[in-house]
Amino acid sequence: MERNTIQRDIVMTVLKKLNNHATADEIYAAVRHEHPAISRSTVYRNLQWFCDKGQLRKREIPGQADVYDQICTNHYHVRCSRCGRIFDVDMDYIPALEQAIKDPHGFRFTGHDIIFTGVCPDCQSRDEPL
Ligand SMILES: [Zn+2]
Ligand SMILES: [Zn+2]
Repeated sequence: MERNTIQRDIVMTVLKKLNNHATADEIYAAVRHEHPAISRSTVYRNLQWFCDKGQLRKREIPGQADVYDQICTNHYHVRCSRCGRIFDVDMDYIPALEQAIKDPHGFRFTGHDIIFTGVCPDCQSRDEPL
């Protein structure tokens, strides 16, 4: 197998094992754990390659590192305000939301993202007052 293909395989195998919505740093740490010879730039380059091919989608999260999403279709997220982890919410995407904007200031809207805020089950079970 070609070297690039092997590296891509390694990154994809690690991605599948991690929780979805991992950051590039988390992915790199997990890859390095199993394959210490692979460099950070190789991992980052491969993540970009998967994004370019439509197999992975980078999501910008306000105030924290971008995460990589293995579900590339439009969907909404919730961010845990305690641990910062990102989860999918079980809710249909609402394309009509953009038509609901009353005063678009001349914009042609091309998409939207919604990130809800909450406390995940793990953090709730840590028994701290909310
Ligand atoms: Zn949490
Ligand atoms: Zn997602």
